[in-house]
Amino acid sequence: MSENKIPYKIYLSEEEMPRTWYNLRADMKNKPAPLLNPGTGRPMTAEELEGVFCKELVAQELDNDTPYFEIPGEIRDFYKMYRPSPLVRAYCLEEKLQTPAKIYYKFEGNNTSGSHKLNSAIAQAYYAKQQGLKGVTTETGAGQWGTALSMACGYLGLDCKVFMVKCSYEQKPFRREVMKVYGSSVTPSPSDTTNVGRKILAEFPGTGGSLGCAISEAVETAVSTPGYRYVLGSVLNQVLLHQSVIGLESKIALDKYGVKPDIVIGCAGGGSNLGGLIAPFMGEKLRGEADYRFIAVEPASCPSFTRGRYAYDFCDTGMVCPLAKMYTLGSSFMPSADHAGGLRFHGMSSVLSQLYADGYMEAVSVKQTDVFRAAEEFARVEGILPAPESSHAILAAVNEAKRCRETGEEKTILFGLTGTGYFDLVAYEKFHSGEMHDFVPTEEDIARSLAQLPEVN
Ligand SMILES: *Cc1c(COP(=O)(O)O)cnc(C)c1O
Repeated sequence: MSENKIPYKIYLSEEEMPRTWYNLRADMKNKPAPLLNPGTGRPMTAEELEGVFCKELVAQELDNDTPYFEIPGEIRDFYKMYRPSPLVRAYCLEEKLQTPAKIYYKFEGNNTSGSHKLNSAIAQAYYAKQQGLKGVTTETGAGQWGTALSMACGYLGLDCKVFMVKCSYEQKPFRREVMKVYGSSVTPSPSDTTNVGRKILAEFPGTGGSLGCAISEAVETAVSTPGYRYVLGSVLNQVLLHQSVIGLESKIALDKYGVKPDIVIGCAGGGSNLGGLIAPFMGEKLRGEADYRFIAVEPASCPSFTRGRYAYDFCDTGMVCPLAKMYTLGSSFMPSADHAGGLRFHGMSSVLSQLYADGYMEAVSVKQTDVFRAAEEFARVEGILPAPESSHAILAAVNEAKRCRETGEEKTILFGLTGTGYFDLVAYEKFHSGEMHDFVPTEEDIARSLAQLPEVN
């Protein structure tokens, strides 16, 4: 089929939607390093993990060999309410940039939670329900994950306890109320409902909280409340597995028109959307069937890949979670106030970390004000108001397209547009009023937190 026949939006029918998730680990020669028990330094066993996480999810977490996992019918039915998500040919952006590059983006913001996180939230809630649990606990920073999980739990009739970083709880009342619409209880963290929360409140009265502290509170509540488990919205292998639906749909849609991307780009916080988007393409690369360039885009304020160290580290500041081997800035690293709340995690998925260490992937870091400039350029031609996180990928895609303009190369670029920015208008306001600044940590900042990496390394 000729290029100009490609529609603005490539939709798939329900029948064409993927029936399985793809487990990229099955095709990796060097498997991601296992989670370690911080007490013993030994790999976490299924039994140990099952005290914190749902049984079926633990099985997915530890399975490095099974390439495909069937998507249960009930999850597929839920997906059908907002999937397949559109794959858009960015004709208007191409025109604006005067580039010979062909740009596509996969838009995951077409649901109330406004991001891709719902793809894993419904899966995790489903397995908790299957196990006969009463409810789940989690943390949320900016609120996207908490909202997605609330929607999933509301749908399945599962109780959901969200610990929301206190400063977000106070500054983002809209997200907080959406979670309550779906029936979740939302507690500002640190709170006096947990030991770790009380300890932090005693030590730092008046603190606005942190993601690491909220994780510690959610885990403590899960393990101390019968019938509850803890769930996490990114970083873990299981989350990348569920998010593979993004890449699988993209590939099915592109294959319909015989289009093969040269470059696949995604923003990287904990790595779940990027890991999901690249999964089937990376699988082909690992099996030697095709070649692609993969680019992870991270904020200059929290540059885990580009300036971090590949080492075992804690996932939380409370140091209660297992140790993961990943590119990390150190669990005590405090990124300065940055509006891309979803990209502020100090570490990175173990799967992506191993692929990056093995040279299968590139990474770039970009500055916040440049990101917002690209976001507006995109919004004005493509219509969608992008989330600040997603706009990191927009900027990198625009930069690649501009390079093509200079060299005359007709590269095909695919990027992930992970969400919408309606709840981020305070950040846009700061950008407009010139109050937005670019924070870049110094070498000393990073060295200081890396010096506190755990002993096992
Ligand atoms: C959470 C979030 C991200 C980053 O998380 P990953 O796990 O790295 O995908 C990116 N975009 C949006 C809109 C998010 O909500």
